[in-house]
Amino acid sequence: MAATLTTAFPPPIFFRFSRVLRAYAIPKPFSKLSIDVLRAPSYSLRPERRVCHITASVNEEASAKAAAASVDNGGPTIFDKIIAREIPSTIIYEDDKVLAFRDINPQAPVHVLLIPKFRDGLTQLGKAESRHAEILGHLLYAAKVVAEKEGIVDGFRVVINNGPEACQSVYHLHLHILGGRQMKWPPG
Ligand code: AMP
Repeated sequence: MAATLTTAFPPPIFFRFSRVLRAYAIPKPFSKLSIDVLRAPSYSLRPERRVCHITASVNEEASAKAAAASVDNGGPTIFDKIIAREIPSTIIYEDDKVLAFRDINPQAPVHVLLIPKFRDGLTQLGKAESRHAEILGHLLYAAKVVAEKEGIVDGFRVVINNGPEACQSVYHLHLHILGGRQMKWPPG
């Protein structure tokens, strides 16, 4: 039944998803297969894990492309340029160890990114070693300070995306601090 739902005549609900899946997850020989078939757990590319940030955002294709293309190669990231003030950002808090600035693609009325100024191998949380314990603790404390400054300390969420399956797209450890609206659970 589902196999008759081809991308040639998708119903509107499928159209937005199929554009993303065609571009980033579906090899050409399978492009006529249904979305349901391609989402089956046995499908080796696991498109539901490879396509990140499928939201109502108009930037969903760009986000999916960025996340799919990102790998942890240990190289410089866009956040280095923000730390160096080489590109503009809206900085809302900093101390000698961390920097907080507004996310360019906010997912909530308040969406701040908090990063260590010195990456020291922390491309992602999964790379943490015991020497990082102090900066990791400091980041959590700074997250609370940022939440206070933003007026959301009574209700906010801290998110760390770790690795491709969590849709990490920038490999410089960062905390997302989100608030200003009712958060949902479970998260996507
Ligand atoms: P993640 O997908 O968890 O790696 O988060 C990376 C975040 O960085 C995304 O939410 C992006 O919107 C955000 N981002 C990327 N470039 C910039 C930038 N130049 N200024 C502010 N936020 C950015």
